[in-house]
Amino acid sequence: MDSTATDAEHIAILGAGASGLALGWLLSQAGKRVTLFEAAPHIGGLARTFDWHGIPCDIAPHRLHTGDMEVLDAVRSLVPLREHERRSRILMRGRQIRDPINPIELVLRFPPRTGFALVWGFLNRPKLPETSFEGLALNRYGRGLYDFFFAPYTKKMFGVSPAEISVTWGREKLRASGLLDTLKRQSKTFFHSFWYPAQGGYQAILDAMLARVRGEVLLNAPVTGLETADGRITAVRYRRDGTEQRFACDRVFSTIPATGLGRMLGEEIPLRFKRIQLVYLDIARPEVMPYQWVYFGDGDVVINRMAEFQHFHPDLPPRDHSVLCAEVTMDTDRPVADVLEALERYGLVSREEVRDTLVLTEDCGYPVYDKGFEAAREQAQALFGRFDNLHCVGRNAEFRHIETDEDIASAAACLRRIYGDASVVLRP
Ligand SMILES: Cc1cc2nc3c(=O)[nH]c(=O)nc-3n(C[C@H](O)[C@H](O)[C@H](O)COP(=O)(O)OP(=O)(O)OC[C@H]3O[C@@H](n4cnc5c(N)ncnc54)[C@H](O)[C@@H]3O)c2cc1C
Repeated sequence: MDSTATDAEHIAILGAGASGLALGWLLSQAGKRVTLFEAAPHIGGLARTFDWHGIPCDIAPHRLHTGDMEVLDAVRSLVPLREHERRSRILMRGRQIRDPINPIELVLRFPPRTGFALVWGFLNRPKLPETSFEGLALNRYGRGLYDFFFAPYTKKMFGVSPAEISVTWGREKLRASGLLDTLKRQSKTFFHSFWYPAQGGYQAILDAMLARVRGEVLLNAPVTGLETADGRITAVRYRRDGTEQRFACDRVFSTIPATGLGRMLGEEIPLRFKRIQLVYLDIARPEVMPYQWVYFGDGDVVINRMAEFQHFHPDLPPRDHSVLCAEVTMDTDRPVADVLEALERYGLVSREEVRDTLVLTEDCGYPVYDKGFEAAREQAQALFGRFDNLHCVGRNAEFRHIETDEDIASAAACLRRIYGDASVVLRP
């Protein structure tokens, strides 16, 4: 337990997304008051929801799937959840295949030449040094599956070849099933069901945290700098109503991207985030596909994944239209045109059915695990670690490709390190 921690601490939390709100909620439960600073005019960050044409829309599909029962129980007691059976597919070369990829299905469903390349590649897997994602994917799955799926999909996701992506990415995130993996019932890749708020969008979880925060949540309040003295952060500078303001503090929790925090402390951290564009389409048809989401595996299609939101809201009254969200990870300055082209190619939607479109951009969609990013992340940790009372929590602050359940777990772990185990209870 940190001997400097007191109940009268002035606590600043930078960012009011899932991590900032989880910290605010847990600190409030521990009897503290907090001040949250949020640059946007709304809470939620990447896990926010907005209403569009009468349907709650998330940033791409957001689902709660976790093996962390403490977090699941905590979220369940914050807000009623409904369990959904997963319905998703991968679209590739004009076919729909199971998600995650199952090599046996690929062999059976694609022309013999492709099937032969997959089997031959798998049987003749190389033994390359695993210095990049390329080496790991080739060693594990062989040349056939690498060329067929991993190379084009990774390029689409990050804009660079798998040879330039760290092996850490593969170790954490490989989206393919091996023969034995298919026996696993639940994991971050292999989950057969997921949880989602029974009412409203994914943000309902964050709204429930917000309702339990003791203190202030300042919206439209971008943090612009930090004041430091003797290895501590002494004040947060922020902009509000057109003026620069200052909040003297005893402790700071940062959930903003590590690069932004680094700049405030005078260092450029060479980490990279993937910018994503989200193309929302209002379609004049009650249902476009029977799936909650589909991945697009082809390297020449700009869409990475597309969700149909009505499948998350079985209680919505019947309607004559449906809202889709296509997540575009490839760089393009004509996202709507490119998305429509892809959807027509797959026979999913025709242009005449599109009633309205909306494009949102998230500059920090995914932390990119470029080769060598580990050293840059250590540089960030060393910089932030120089300040006793500064703590980084969450996906972009820690530069880890994690999800909301892990953001919540990370908030709890951080508070336990500071205040001791007994003071953090993951139960409202
Ligand atoms: C496309 C996509 C799909 C996803 N799907 C899932 C899923 O299915 N399930 C799941 O659990 N998770 C999913 N995630 C991950 C999940 O969204 C994140 O883990 C989570 O939202 C991260 O929360 P955070 O609070 O750490 O960061 P953020 O949500 O990024 O919040 C940080 C906040 O800080 C604010 N901020 C930034 N700079 C400043 C500043 N200078 N001053 C003040 N405020 C600032 C931002 O406006 C933002 O609100 C997905 C993410 C993406 C991008």
